Amino acid sequence: MSTDLRDLYQEVILDHSKKPRNFGAMGDADRHAEGYNPLCGDRETVYVKLDGDRLEKVTFEGSGCAISTASASMMTESLRGRSLAEVDALFSCFHDLITGKPARPGGLPLGKLEVFSGVREYPVRIKCATLPWHTLKAALEEEGAVVSTETMEGPKAESGGA
Ligand code: ZN
Repeated sequence: MSTDLRDLYQEVILDHSKKPRNFGAMGDADRHAEGYNPLCGDRETVYVKLDGDRLEKVTFEGSGCAISTASASMMTESLRGRSLAEVDALFSCFHDLITGKPARPGGLPLGKLEVFSGVREYPVRIKCATLPWHTLKAALEEEGAVVSTETMEGPKAESGGA
């Protein structure tokens, strides 16, 4: 990682972890789920307001490390107005990015989420960064779901992991 990207990574993650966007419970949420990362102690609840097959709004609350908080904060910003299909595609691209896989052809641009490419240098933090995404997916699949990073698969349960 270049020095510029490393600085950006630290700056953006610090900013979002100190001032998380869309932080707080959503009273009229259509879906919510709780996610836990026992390895780090991260706990997040993700709330979703749906408009047809689009995410009208996403918020979260909870407590965790800087990476999990910043990831949740940036996820809520990135997903506003996205379709469910785009959410799946973005999660796959994000997962590839932080696990160091090459970008897939036709993948959606990640925009600001690119700063999380730095996480690949800290494998223990990958679960922190993916926690909000897994929790969001769980909420979309089953209202009120409770999930743990220790029992989750990657997006679409990709084979050949590990
Ligand atoms: Zn963490």
